[in-house]
Amino acid sequence: MAAQSPDLARIIARLAADMAHEPQRGRVADYIPALARADADRFGIAVLTADGQMHVGGDADHGFSIQSISKVFTLTMALNRIGARLWQRVGREPSGSAFNSIVQLEHEQGLPRNPFINAGAIVVSDVILAGQTAAAATAEILDYLRMLAGDPAIAIDAEVAASEAETGHRNAALASYIKSCGRLDHAVADVLQVYFGQCAITMSCRQLARAGHYLMAGGRGPHGEVLVPPDRARRINALMLTCGHYDGSGEFAYRVGIPGKSGVGGGILAVVPGRASIAVWSPGLNARGSSMIGSLALERLAEAMGWSVFAA
Ligand code: GLN
Repeated sequence: MAAQSPDLARIIARLAADMAHEPQRGRVADYIPALARADADRFGIAVLTADGQMHVGGDADHGFSIQSISKVFTLTMALNRIGARLWQRVGREPSGSAFNSIVQLEHEQGLPRNPFINAGAIVVSDVILAGQTAAAATAEILDYLRMLAGDPAIAIDAEVAASEAETGHRNAALASYIKSCGRLDHAVADVLQVYFGQCAITMSCRQLARAGHYLMAGGRGPHGEVLVPPDRARRINALMLTCGHYDGSGEFAYRVGIPGKSGVGGGILAVVPGRASIAVWSPGLNARGSSMIGSLALERLAEAMGWSVFAA
């Protein structure tokens, strides 16, 4: 693994330079002002390898709204809390629909297809709420990310959280529908507070790559500490591969070939099991709501390094 590092540093420097000149940058999310202000010209990358080396390029220390990448970490928390019982409340199948789609919920009696679409993440928030207030549950999520990234400075962007709540009518509809099916234990307003709070966490590529360490390392953190059992890390990776990019998950698996989870803030967390935890960020999105330049950078990096879960 150590022998890979010099190459990797060169590849990342080259990628950061190349991505700056890519003409097709996608469209910045504009459903709330704080995200609409992001600059589509930005690009950051951080790669943490299994031997503990961190390689960065571009705007790797620029904070951005992690949005749906938070769903990976809240899923981990919910599994740590209630284990396989979670699967009675949320499925494990790709949805083939947009991240905020409503239509499947009615067909499936309020059982969300998977934990990475909004409906599924709302159920996961409900699980984390058990036994505590919405403020405490939100603080628990933030603390978990600070612990994983080893950085107590990670914070929630209050402006983003407030705008999510103000404009989040569709998420409110999803939560209300699930509640109407008897599938939420807590008040819709509390569940949404937790969900909007997690979406509004600000992190940099460097912080996210560190937080993803346990997914590449069989459940172990950067200091060898056991954070989740190996089979749990493996299964979260499986869900990231099959469901991490919503209705673009098949395309990402085909082009990049590793587990990944995107957010509408333009970040993607990607995992090469046994080898690397990678975070990329560029705010312009493709039609499915995933970073356009970020996906391209991961495709080029995976190809250059021979990183694919499908490679012989
Ligand atoms: N806050 C966004 C929403 O709930 C998150 C979606 C995403 O990142 N795909 O709509």
